[in-house]
Amino acid sequence: MRLEQESQFAWLQGLYFFDGVSVAISNALRKKGTRAQDYIKEPIRITPLSPQEKAAKERAEQNKIIAYFSNLERASDRENEAARASMLLSADGSEMIICPHCDTYQTRRSVCMKCKAAL
Ligand SMILES: [Zn+2]
Repeated sequence: MRLEQESQFAWLQGLYFFDGVSVAISNALRKKGTRAQDYIKEPIRITPLSPQEKAAKERAEQNKIIAYFSNLERASDRENEAARASMLLSADGSEMIICPHCDTYQTRRSVCMKCKAAL
């Protein structure tokens, strides 16, 4: 058992050492403009998560999923706006556009009537 533990410890130490050397080498050889890698951010977890840690991790995952879908919804809202604008265009012949700066409908002009940005 004691030998087993020592072996585990040595193995883990080797893993940290390997990671450190890998990061150092890849940073030394990295191409210009690529981001430097960091040494492993936190110790490798070897004991199981507590119920609280498990719950916190699940919440974080759920929040990530919720953020993903609300971004998706917002993106599809923008696409619908664009589709509606082009329908307006074909319906009465007047050219409607959406200002890319303030997202308001405009009849085609060189300057946005709301935010004064060049169109
Ligand atoms: Zn505008």
